[in-house]
Amino acid sequence: MSERKDKYIDNFRKMLQQDTVSEEGNINPEKFREFHKLLKTLFPNIFEACEVMDFEGSLLLRWKGADSGAEKKLPVMFMNHMDVVSAEGDWEHEPFSGDVADGAIWGRGAVDTKCGLWAMLQAADELAAEGFVPERDIFFESACTEETFGEGAIAISRWLLDNGIRLDMSFDEGGMVMYDPIGGAKGTFAMVGVGEKGCSNIRFIARSEGGHASTPGKNTPLVRLGKFMAYVERHEVFDVEMSPTIKEMFRRIAPYMGSLGKIVGNPDKLEPVLNRVLPKFSATAGALLKTTLAFTMAKGAESSNALPTEAWVVGNMRSSHHQGERASLEAIRKIAAKFDIEIDVFDPGVESRLTDYKGEAFRLVEEATRATMPNVDEVVPYVMTGASDSRFYDGVCNQCIRFLPFTINEQQLESIHGINENMSIDALIPAVEWYRYLMKKM
Ligand SMILES: [Zn+2]
Repeated sequence: MSERKDKYIDNFRKMLQQDTVSEEGNINPEKFREFHKLLKTLFPNIFEACEVMDFEGSLLLRWKGADSGAEKKLPVMFMNHMDVVSAEGDWEHEPFSGDVADGAIWGRGAVDTKCGLWAMLQAADELAAEGFVPERDIFFESACTEETFGEGAIAISRWLLDNGIRLDMSFDEGGMVMYDPIGGAKGTFAMVGVGEKGCSNIRFIARSEGGHASTPGKNTPLVRLGKFMAYVERHEVFDVEMSPTIKEMFRRIAPYMGSLGKIVGNPDKLEPVLNRVLPKFSATAGALLKTTLAFTMAKGAESSNALPTEAWVVGNMRSSHHQGERASLEAIRKIAAKFDIEIDVFDPGVESRLTDYKGEAFRLVEEATRATMPNVDEVVPYVMTGASDSRFYDGVCNQCIRFLPFTINEQQLESIHGINENMSIDALIPAVEWYRYLMKKM
């Protein structure tokens, strides 16, 4: 038991000790190829069993299935990115130390998402060493560009498309196992992402003839932008709707919510009330029910005594599935026009579908979680408000699941892209067991 644990700790910390920070607009494949070498020494059996492909530093492994008949099942893919964001700030343990202290392993990527990469390859390596051969083809994907522009996932999805390979299921990072993840639900939940919202950036531009600041007149560009932003904050400008997935999420969480659970647990009857109340009650709940728009950047005139001929603010929009990017843009364009504001979508998003929580992929994840993580009270489908590489596989994969089988606490959740990132040692064995369970079912 402890020998197994020691080996896991050792392999995991070696992965954390290697710097795999990815920088926007500057992919350095050689840096990641160094990391591939490490993976090969840590997991020799699965690398031996697989065909290994390299897409500018992003890895794709193909484990050939035994079944090669005409009725062959479509392949599946397990994925976890290898790159991490940079590690500034004052860390208790150096970000690339892989220190073991206080029952945890410390380092950048411990949660996002070298934990998943380690557990997935550890499980596959063990199975390969035991002589296990999957029934169908299994791919393992690890991109080195998830934290930047997703070039790796885009290239690999194109390769799959070009080679006529369609995936039945994919299992990527996403939700995790947490106690009380939404505030007020007293239980431990496996939050399984079955989709993610679209994400796009829009510039809202207000123009004028300019002029001197001594004689401003009314409705100058910055004032119009201010009125527009205040309007958006005060009004419900996007459609509020509870998707079947979010209804199911509330149904499953409700029994742990005390008296509030009686309302939340009955979304079919009470949807109109919930749609009105929930966004006011919690920003997190609101984000699950509608498109959101956050204003993040701004620019006015070049000098303090001139009126701007052009002023702008940038809005980061996360579009819901019931009101996709195009419809959400139309809604906001109409409102902007009332304030004489133009819009420019300079960074359009990638839309992706929701995976049916009643489908096989979710069922298998639920089964694996129940079998290997006894601390979990309920397995809950939800929609991620953040983005993952999975969105690039929407066109080549039938069911995309976004979940990492690790139990984390609040500090560990906040350490993602923050400081003091760490993973509990107790979370390691269940994660490997989870991947083993799923791979054997393929
Ligand atoms: Zn990540």
